[in-house]
Amino acid sequence: MSNKTMSDEERQRLVNEMRNEEQQRQAGYREQALKLFPHVCGRCTREFEGKKMRELTVHHRDHNHDNNPPDGSNWELLCIYCHDHEHTRGVQEQRDAEGPGGHPGRPSLGHSPFAALGDRFKKPK
Ligand SMILES: [Zn+2]
Ligand SMILES: [Zn+2]
Repeated sequence: MSNKTMSDEERQRLVNEMRNEEQQRQAGYREQALKLFPHVCGRCTREFEGKKMRELTVHHRDHNHDNNPPDGSNWELLCIYCHDHEHTRGVQEQRDAEGPGGHPGRPSLGHSPFAALGDRFKKPK
């Protein structure tokens, strides 16, 4: 528990911190989004609470995971099923090339006519 040695241990800690940064960043905006929005899937309108909350994820409207305005304007809460659907319907051909787990970070994929339609169907409460 003593951190007298600043060299290797410290460096290792930095590496770990950087590695965790992405995860923490994601957890961070999820937390924020969950505070901002009702815990309801934006597509199937199911409600989530308790353990089920794990199935509620944050979708980026412009598909840019680095675009995280604090007002939540780029976020949408979707359950994992609708979220998967949201991404696969526009990226089906891409999927074979990238394989599973390859989350498209390129914004160009988000600018499909379907994405625009999705926004139009969204009714303000
Ligand atoms: Zn859903
Ligand atoms: Zn998404």
